[in-house]
Amino acid sequence: MKLSLLIPFYNEERQIPLTLQTVLPILEATGCDFEVLLVDDGSRDGSWSVIADASRSDERLVGIRFSRNFGKEAAICAALDQADGDAVILMDGDLQHPPQHIPEMLRLWREGYDVVEGVKTSRGSESFFSRLNATVFYGLFRRFSGYDLRNASDFKLLDRKVVDQWRLLGEHDTFFRGLSAWLGFKRTTFSFEVAERQAGTSKWSPFKLLALSLNAITGFSAMPLQFITLMGIVMLAGSLILAVQTLVNFFIGHAATGFTTVILLLLLIGGSIMISLGLIGMYIARIFTEVKGRPRYIVAETTRPQAVEPPDCRDR
Ligand code: UDP
Ligand code: MG
Repeated sequence: MKLSLLIPFYNEERQIPLTLQTVLPILEATGCDFEVLLVDDGSRDGSWSVIADASRSDERLVGIRFSRNFGKEAAICAALDQADGDAVILMDGDLQHPPQHIPEMLRLWREGYDVVEGVKTSRGSESFFSRLNATVFYGLFRRFSGYDLRNASDFKLLDRKVVDQWRLLGEHDTFFRGLSAWLGFKRTTFSFEVAERQAGTSKWSPFKLLALSLNAITGFSAMPLQFITLMGIVMLAGSLILAVQTLVNFFIGHAATGFTTVILLLLLIGGSIMISLGLIGMYIARIFTEVKGRPRYIVAETTRPQAVEPPDCRDR
């Protein structure tokens, strides 16, 4: 049996050697045949030369270089497309997902679980914004999609059959954490403590995090659209009451007053319409990106002699 370890890197030239030094002995100790797929997500530093050098001297390492930065989700997709192991483990390149858990993941997999998921016992040191975003986002996501992803992570082991099903998913915009829950199969979890980053900094800006959250929610649920209907119903009910009041005022001769009400109503209705349009716009934007059918990522070069073709979304 063969194990594939998939690691995305973006501007991590200082981190890559540390990660490889830590991961390789652990993989060797498992006694399995293995490959390590290192995806360079369009780094602007020397990450690719570090990856290329490492994979020249060790044939178990495979480097994949994107033509530009496509984001971690795309890097995950590329790695899952290229991996040919019977079990596939995905982890962050900054060792925040402690590789010491790999033997435990393999043990659970051998016990018959198809998906082994890492659950964070603490969220490590995070910025206030990142924490707030996580709380709001996971709450909304659970309500809308029915999947509880609180403390979930991308540190996962997937069985070959799960990866094969993943590769059949047609969407351009993926959300690995959510979609892997959606895929189902026999699942189990293990907990891990988020380690401190050793080198470099987190690549997530508050804006990127917010975009990821919005993308994940609109990708999983059409429920926000129902809110527009709900908002309309609430407003209609309110306007019925106001209509009665206005008519009464009219018939008893006080029709000229109520200017404040008019202004407030205008502001309220205007704001609601804008928000509703924005929401509908988000879904249209998703349709727009999906319908273009562009590839999820573009590989500029790889150190593997025969790269696997990414699936063509238009065939489906
Ligand atoms: N990463 C990536 N592409 C990006 C951003 C990040 O491949 O556009 C990689 C990064 O190199 C790291 C992993 O994704 O291996 C997690 O990123 P990071 O540590 O910045 O995220 P955090 O731990 O803060 O969630
Ligand atoms: Mg990290």
